Amino acid sequence: MTSTSDSGVPACAVLTHVFQHPFLEEDSTPSTAEQRRLRTALTARATEACMACPYFEDCLDLAVTKHDVSGFVAATTSRQRAQMRNMLRVEVTADDMDALIGVIASGRQIATRDVVALRRAHPDESLDFIAQRLGCSLSTVKRHLRRARAAAASETETPRRRTPEEPDRGRLITAFESVTGMRRRAEAAA
Ligand code: SF4
Repeated sequence: MTSTSDSGVPACAVLTHVFQHPFLEEDSTPSTAEQRRLRTALTARATEACMACPYFEDCLDLAVTKHDVSGFVAATTSRQRAQMRNMLRVEVTADDMDALIGVIASGRQIATRDVVALRRAHPDESLDFIAQRLGCSLSTVKRHLRRARAAAASETETPRRRTPEEPDRGRLITAFESVTGMRRRAEAAA
């Protein structure tokens, strides 16, 4: 099973065809039975990778209590993480997956400002063009552009409240198990 590469890169940065598939990354709704089977298979593969990942608890903690990232993270969907926040009474601002994981498949971090600068320099080119220039996926480009739009919009808004007290790992794992119906293996949760 792929959990991390030899260089310690997490499985989600290696299995990009799984984690960055629109059914997982964008929570797209499958419209046919075949697509539903595909989403189920992708979710199972990503869940398997996350549950075996040495960064699982840190990743879950960050994705629930510190960053509101999109996509499938730490064996949870964004909707499940929202449920966990309600249970734990935490509130966080939107962020992006690359900032959370800190790497992409190539091992090079992509900055939102680089994506925005390239977009401005080449307004008539496709997003694929920008992805190729940066050596990242199309979905990574889209995420950064969404992040830039959100940041621009939030400049005029009041900053969202963050809970002063963050839940401990025990409560976090209890919330994870309650929302997902999965149990952490004893040796992993210890
Ligand atoms: S637990 Fe987090 S870091 Fe590990 S594979 Fe899953 S999403 Fe990636």
